Amino acid sequence: MGKEKIQSRIWLSPPHLGGQENNYIQTALQSNWVAPAGPQIGQFESSIQNFIGGKKKAVALNSGTAAIHLALVLAGVEAGDEVICQSLTFCASVNPVLYLGAHPIFVDSEPETWNLCPVMLKQAIEDRLAHGKRPKAIIAVHLYGMPYQVDEVHAVASEFNIPVIEDAAEALGSTYKQQSCGSLGNFAIFSFNGNKIITTGGGGILICATSVEKKWAQFLATQAKDEAPHFEHSQLGYNYRMSNIAAAIGCGQVQVLDARIEKRREINAWYRGVFKDLGGDVTFQDEPDTYYMSNYWLTAVQLPLPVRNAIVNAFAKANIESRPVWKPMHLQPLYKNAPFYGEKTAEKLFFKGLCLPSGTNMNEEDLNRIQVTLQSALNH
Ligand SMILES: *Cc1c(COP(=O)(O)O)cnc(C)c1O
Repeated sequence: MGKEKIQSRIWLSPPHLGGQENNYIQTALQSNWVAPAGPQIGQFESSIQNFIGGKKKAVALNSGTAAIHLALVLAGVEAGDEVICQSLTFCASVNPVLYLGAHPIFVDSEPETWNLCPVMLKQAIEDRLAHGKRPKAIIAVHLYGMPYQVDEVHAVASEFNIPVIEDAAEALGSTYKQQSCGSLGNFAIFSFNGNKIITTGGGGILICATSVEKKWAQFLATQAKDEAPHFEHSQLGYNYRMSNIAAAIGCGQVQVLDARIEKRREINAWYRGVFKDLGGDVTFQDEPDTYYMSNYWLTAVQLPLPVRNAIVNAFAKANIESRPVWKPMHLQPLYKNAPFYGEKTAEKLFFKGLCLPSGTNMNEEDLNRIQVTLQSALNH
């Protein structure tokens, strides 16, 4: 009759510190750079620039959402404009369109990568043009780290000469044809929220092509202060800069990024083994071919509804976090009046989809608990 032990929670994707963060924070504190300015910001920006190939410019900001907002501004989106958005995503991909008073036009996913369907994208653009509206930008997402169909999506975008904003919030370390996600579009963003593959305890980065764009983004992110001895403003600015302390955490995190990517991919492979042994009726979000390399930020699967529910319940009882796939934006009350182009691919992925715990600091014991819980759910 022993007391039931309450097991510690296994989170979907908690922060995982590397050990060097504290040194960088100490350096920042000792130099008194406790501000949204300071040397660690530049250092963090350079390390991300280099990580994604060294050709693009990075602007550190206080969230990924802020980065999308500024990417839209840099792409010239204004009130009344239309922006094409992948429907299957987190709301942060799309909400900045509303911040600008612009209108999202939603497009379905394709079933290979779960991301923006290039066929529907083309139909959507042609139909908007027929309505006399020219979309100003396309927001495409590398969901759960899986690259979207980059060549196909970008071919449509260039056919109509519309800039692409890559939402790579979840895809730091993923590649398409050996090129880093986040270096492929006209603009891109990363998030360093606490749940992402590396974190700054909340933060983001905007990726752009030129120093001129970078300067402009920094200007907008610092309340758009014109050159003058007093504060003079001819533009609408924002307070979006990253704190130097957050950047210091980021400097430490970047050092373990390669290890984190490897580990996320190991966890994904481990789940494939577990489900294979259990003989479960499961479909993984998969790399379609060798062009695609996902960081597998989250391992995401499709399951028959009763199986999915059984797993969710068993996990809840065992104090293990899981989460359904994003509910498509075109099905959200907030966006119910926005146009949608597609069929039911995103909707089906949502209904049958589940994200499994993918944190890189899980130990053997945690993995065993997950395995045993999956076994009990599937044998039910
Ligand atoms: C996390 C996330 C964002 C937003 O990033 P924040 O830093 O939380 O503002 C945007 N898009 C996607 C797909 C995300 O997962």
